[in-house]
Amino acid sequence: MPNRCPECGAPPGAGESCADLFNRMLAVEWEMIGRIGRRIAPEAFLAREVAAVGMKAHFFAVGSYQLQHPAGLTAAALAGLHQGLGDVLAGRREVADVRLAARRAFNGPQRVRRSAAGGRDPMLGLWPSTWPLTVADCCDVDPDTYADAVARLAAATVAAIDAVRPAAPSRPQSRPPAPQRRRGGQPQR
Ligand SMILES: [Zn+2]
Repeated sequence: MPNRCPECGAPPGAGESCADLFNRMLAVEWEMIGRIGRRIAPEAFLAREVAAVGMKAHFFAVGSYQLQHPAGLTAAALAGLHQGLGDVLAGRREVADVRLAARRAFNGPQRVRRSAAGGRDPMLGLWPSTWPLTVADCCDVDPDTYADAVARLAAATVAAIDAVRPAAPSRPQSRPPAPQRRRGGQPQR
């Protein structure tokens, strides 16, 4: 029976852990960024495009991996990541915007990670335990197809969570409070 990661179900190779798969995935990402950079490096102004492609791919890769390994994160961090990944996939928000919001919400990594003494969050009882795609599907791909591979991984991850726990509407917290209405009768003039 193949060795499987207890959290995401990915099958690492002999002597490998899921973290090794994650590192292999990021190595493909570096190669993708290197290839794009070598192609367009003479155009210095295009360096921003390399950064944008790399940042989005990195967000899809790392965000999906974190959502598929939820045990160490708080419920709030998982919910924010689920929503942010869905928003970026749908083109509703930029990666930089999601990251900034996460930094503001959590004030650094210490509040994102669940303390060992905190126990398992009840929300995780609803979390998917199997995934249509995992890190294993992105660590042996051609670097030229990596951006598409991690976008598919992110879409599959968000969809699997949506199926059991739909994301809240985007950014409800930025809406000002509704004005108080008088109950019953016509509005007074
Ligand atoms: Zn895993």
